[in-house]
Amino acid sequence: MTIGSILILPGDGIGPEVMAEVRKIIDWFADRRSIAFDVSEDLVGGAAYDAYGTPLADKTMDKAQSVDAVLLGAVGGPKYDQLDFSVKPERGLLRLRKEMDLFANLRPAQCFDALADFSSLKRDLVAGLDIMIVRELTSGIYFGEPRGIFEENGERVGINTQRYTESEIDRVARAAFDLARKRDGRVCSMEKANVMESGILWREVVQKVHDEDYPDVELSHMYADAGGMQLVRAPKQFDVIVTDNLFGDLLSDVAAMLTGSLGMLPSASLGAPMDNGRPKAMYEPVHGSAPDIAGQNKANPIACILSFSMALRYSFDLGAEADRLDAAIERVLAEGKRTADLLGQPGVQPVSTSEMGDAIVAALDASL
Ligand code: NAD
Repeated sequence: MTIGSILILPGDGIGPEVMAEVRKIIDWFADRRSIAFDVSEDLVGGAAYDAYGTPLADKTMDKAQSVDAVLLGAVGGPKYDQLDFSVKPERGLLRLRKEMDLFANLRPAQCFDALADFSSLKRDLVAGLDIMIVRELTSGIYFGEPRGIFEENGERVGINTQRYTESEIDRVARAAFDLARKRDGRVCSMEKANVMESGILWREVVQKVHDEDYPDVELSHMYADAGGMQLVRAPKQFDVIVTDNLFGDLLSDVAAMLTGSLGMLPSASLGAPMDNGRPKAMYEPVHGSAPDIAGQNKANPIACILSFSMALRYSFDLGAEADRLDAAIERVLAEGKRTADLLGQPGVQPVSTSEMGDAIVAALDASL
């Protein structure tokens, strides 16, 4: 019996290399923990364009809509830079996000002890850091109308509109509160209610959702600019941060850099619950296809493996198994194993992509 379905879309560049390591982890859970998934695989991005003439075939889109979780590697590369905008590899990714209506973007900032020295902040501020930023992804100033560059009183004016409906705020707030219940039970909502009406509404709706349905979760509010300061002053004070599209774009990148390397950063994008109660979901590393190291067995597979760990936790409610996987990664790093992107000290030999995957599997074996 499988416990759910996963569609794997390795994509381009290092995507297939890092995804091959995720496959080892998926196989390990099936063999050693009897946690088996119905796994299928297809093409996205440049690879899909080469095979099907489109960065995402309709049949792949249909499949993505029907599975419990999509795992995506990365898309893009110099080979596709000259393509028409409508068939660029990124269009495949955007189509998935749009048609699955993935409105909550989850960006964890997690700092493994062994890598604390990679942060630009002092070790004691970031060692053991584990926060989650929930960014609203499908509305706000990047989508609001009117938008454009117009002529006014003899000069040009650039306009974008920050716009949020109550239901858009309501659903992303629920996503944040649900997450907090699986973590440390605390949500901090960030906006600019002091100067923006959309911020006033945001604060009111988040508070209402909390009071009506999530009184067990601790809720605080913070202005987004103060939130940015607190993120670099004392990041460990936060558990879940929920914020809009624009502030989330900025704050999640700030938080990501607290932890060091691009090769370590996973993400999830969640939508509305499906009939089986699981949310529409896509999991992907934050990094791109890294054409400069593609095909060399050098890429760090941990961001992609941590994305699978998020799938275990947030799509399949297997928090304890996700903890087991995170702990295995922590152990491998503590043993000093590093892919080339994580090398700091001279004289340390990097491990390859596949060696890192094997080491994590060995650490999982040791966890039994
Ligand atoms: P990138 O993230 O691919 O690479 C930036 C730098 O980080 C490179 O030096 C790369 O070698 C390194 N790096 C990235 N991931 C790594 C890993 N797992 N292990 C070790 N080193 C890693 O960003 P870029 O170079 O700006 O973009 C390359 C291509 O990827 C472009 O076509 C871009 O459009 C695309 N891209 C795709 C996504 C996505 O699929 N979500 C995101 C960003 C960029």
